[in-house]
Amino acid sequence: PQMEIPDHQIIAYRKQHLGKSLSLQYNIPIKMVRGKGQYLIDQFGKKYLDTVNNVAHVGHEHAQVVQAGQDQMGLINTNSRYLHENINELAREIIETLPPELSVLHFVNSGSEANELALRMMKAATGAKDVIASEVGYHGNSNACIDISSYKFDGKGGQGAPEHTHIFPLPDKFRGKFTGINTGPLYALEVKKLIDKVHKKGRNVGALIVEPIISCGGQIELPEGFLNQAYAYVREAGGVCISDEVQVGCGRMGKSFWGFQLYNVIPDIVTIGKPLGNGHPLAAVACTQEIAEKFANGMEYFNTFGGNPVSCAIGAAVLKVVKEEKLQQNALQVGEYLKQELRQLAHEFPIIGDVRGQGLFLGIEFVDKKLKPLKAQADYVINRMKDYGILMSTDGPDNNVLKIKPPMVFTETNASELIFHLRKVLKEDFMNAY
Ligand code: PMP
Repeated sequence: PQMEIPDHQIIAYRKQHLGKSLSLQYNIPIKMVRGKGQYLIDQFGKKYLDTVNNVAHVGHEHAQVVQAGQDQMGLINTNSRYLHENINELAREIIETLPPELSVLHFVNSGSEANELALRMMKAATGAKDVIASEVGYHGNSNACIDISSYKFDGKGGQGAPEHTHIFPLPDKFRGKFTGINTGPLYALEVKKLIDKVHKKGRNVGALIVEPIISCGGQIELPEGFLNQAYAYVREAGGVCISDEVQVGCGRMGKSFWGFQLYNVIPDIVTIGKPLGNGHPLAAVACTQEIAEKFANGMEYFNTFGGNPVSCAIGAAVLKVVKEEKLQQNALQVGEYLKQELRQLAHEFPIIGDVRGQGLFLGIEFVDKKLKPLKAQADYVINRMKDYGILMSTDGPDNNVLKIKPPMVFTETNASELIFHLRKVLKEDFMNAY
């Protein structure tokens, strides 16, 4: 049998030979060797319940998805310049879920590439390059994506917003610039102010890009009326509206298949990533016929891997499984149950200041009585939950928000298990000595 390489050697090798800014989860990192459904299994055979991975959308290593990839890989994998039914089939599966206005697709390999392409489309469609984006938003790792990601350029190692990026305050009705009810129009006015600022510089606005629930912002649901009004301002100024659905798309919201549908708006461009390939690098951009026409200005769009038959077979299998296993409905039911149970915990433990989110995309915010963020407590919880075999993650500008975004096969029993252990950990001394 093959000798196991000890973890400390794997870590030492990574430190020396892999990118120096790659991070590892947990103080004592875990080596995962298998995935199944909502579970990951480490090298010692310990099973973890995964509440983090919204990429393994229909469950880790779903048999139908694995089979689709394997079968197609053994047949043919080429670029999209040859005819193949798979690319059309995946396009059909996606278009079926979108409003009729969004009927053209481009296939790419990552969320970053999708947003990168969306920005190129914006430039082609509007001639403008100024972008309005949210505070603590993240849209990808490429140059242009980093330039619109306040999460990065306002954080460690960042150098603030570039000249063509304009950031509106995180529309957080719990601890943001405006709090309480009816904050939607107020935050939308912040967008309007940015548009005016761009105009004063003698330029036009190209786009507004925002996630329907701002993930890195700490699972911030957009306040009622915000998106409608913000879209209206941007369109009035000649800009296009981009919905970044990389985290929230493909049924996760429960009530709707796409995040923007929660707010009754129709974007001009939708970017789709993580869940579409269930872990295989596959992403897409949906846009209107009009934008697609303007983007096709004579310059060919070529993407070596984008839309290849293997990726498309996998993507189509993922969307079929979402339908067949009624996973959007599951996200709604289990999500509502979990949210209700978390709200009950918030009654019992005042450290939980807010419970928010939709479907299987929830956030729990830890604060003290003065609403001061409690990061150490959030860290403590995820490390203790790991001891109980439950994987969790934190986020938000103050890293005090627990994010819950499990594979969509997460059950009510899983939710109960999660609540059972959370309640136990919340009673521990550390959680009550702040
Ligand atoms: N948009 C959002 C909202 C994301 O969360 C991410 C990845 N975390 C991206 C875009 C970039 O996707 P990728 O890492 O696949 O390039």
